[in-house]
Amino acid sequence: MTTAKADLSEFEQKLVDKAVEAMERAYCKYSNFKVGAALVCEDGEIIIGANHENASYGATICAERSAVVTALTKGHRKFKMIAIATELEEPCSPCGICRQFLIEFGDYKVILGSSTSDQIIETTSYGLLPYAFTPKSLDDHEKETEERHHQSETKNGH
Ligand SMILES: [Zn+2]
Repeated sequence: MTTAKADLSEFEQKLVDKAVEAMERAYCKYSNFKVGAALVCEDGEIIIGANHENASYGATICAERSAVVTALTKGHRKFKMIAIATELEEPCSPCGICRQFLIEFGDYKVILGSSTSDQIIETTSYGLLPYAFTPKSLDDHEKETEERHHQSETKNGH
């Protein structure tokens, strides 16, 4: 849903501000494309991230994953919300790898903002990645494999 910053709650507006502030931590000497993220953990702690590039371009890490790995390292495992900001006037969406990384930790609110406009896109981690491969996929696989194994044992009279 596209909206304006003023339509967000006061907390969410501040979170977007923190994502914009985090852009200044970016190490992006190759693209000059600053990205900032502010992640709200289950206990309310807010952890920021920025994109950090590398001369070996593939080694670059995005702001979203930067925030999440920092949170994970601090012991957090559940998140309530993340705000992400770039300089683009129209809010920019996370890359595919980040969408996958975000959804690993469940369904939570994602706010996409801008340092140069008041435009906002409100979505969720699930909304960003329909038909996602998640931890549930692995759990289902284990369960189904076990059931098939059990059925074949029953059929064979074991
Ligand atoms: Zn990314």
